[in-house]
Amino acid sequence: MKEAHPNPNLEDRSPKPSAPAINREVRHLLGKAIHHYRLVEDGDRIAVAVSGGKDSLLLLWLLRERLKWIPARYDLLAVHVDPGFDSRASEILKGYFEQEGFEHRIIHTDHGLRAHSTENRENPCFLCSRLRRKVLFETAREAGCGKLALGHHQDDLIETFMINMLYGGQMAGIVPRQPFFGGEMVVIRPLVLLPARKVEQLARRLRLPVTHNACPSADRSKRLEVRRMLEALYDSNAKIRGNIFHAMSNVNLEYLPPPIDASGHGAANLMQVWLDKACLPGGGRANAVGAASTPERARP
Ligand code: SF4
Repeated sequence: MKEAHPNPNLEDRSPKPSAPAINREVRHLLGKAIHHYRLVEDGDRIAVAVSGGKDSLLLLWLLRERLKWIPARYDLLAVHVDPGFDSRASEILKGYFEQEGFEHRIIHTDHGLRAHSTENRENPCFLCSRLRRKVLFETAREAGCGKLALGHHQDDLIETFMINMLYGGQMAGIVPRQPFFGGEMVVIRPLVLLPARKVEQLARRLRLPVTHNACPSADRSKRLEVRRMLEALYDSNAKIRGNIFHAMSNVNLEYLPPPIDASGHGAANLMQVWLDKACLPGGGRANAVGAASTPERARP
């Protein structure tokens, strides 16, 4: 009897959907993000972090597919950092990269195991992702890449924003374009305008070799809790999702309270931004509180 392929998606030899089959909306949202946030330029060499999940696999696939639609040229390098739980995932990815002709690097590590060992006193994901990011930067730099593409989509941005607010006490999220080391390396997120459901639909239609994350923390993160909470909100009102995304770049500091403790550098900066935005003569806190508390306009 013929032995089953470890990933049925790779075993399936039937023709796969090509560029014209890609939803026009996906092409539009990808192109819009790339142009609007200046993510990719002609001649770029881009390392694409591929975890084996649908988001990063689709990102890699779309970035290559896009080369058929546009006159610009860029190189792609797929980089997979194996966290060390189960090497089958990296074997499946290696097979896929080779089959599809992607230039690639696979780096085996023990990051996931170290993150769950007694030596680690932090949140496992915090340490694991910090170590992974370091390896990604090093690999990208050694391979001559000036950009590192990550597969975060629109729902990741919303979830991160909510996690930071609910559990970190700050209004912060993740951005589409983020320079590091004085601009020597730029992290880009070309999927930021794509909703998770579109990513999932397309990854399934393309039969991308999505691998299972064997990490024990994979199914019990704060992100999952927040995702479920958000889904319940979206069910109650379909506009909420779009409104949260819009709110992230539509901040009205005039109707937000200034920081109580402005002793830290970040807090002092925020206070200054707040004072500038609020256009307060002299910038006194008494004035500020008065200005912020006047009209009802800020209420929806
Ligand atoms: S879920 Fe596991 S593999 Fe993923 S970042 Fe957290 S610790 Fe690392």
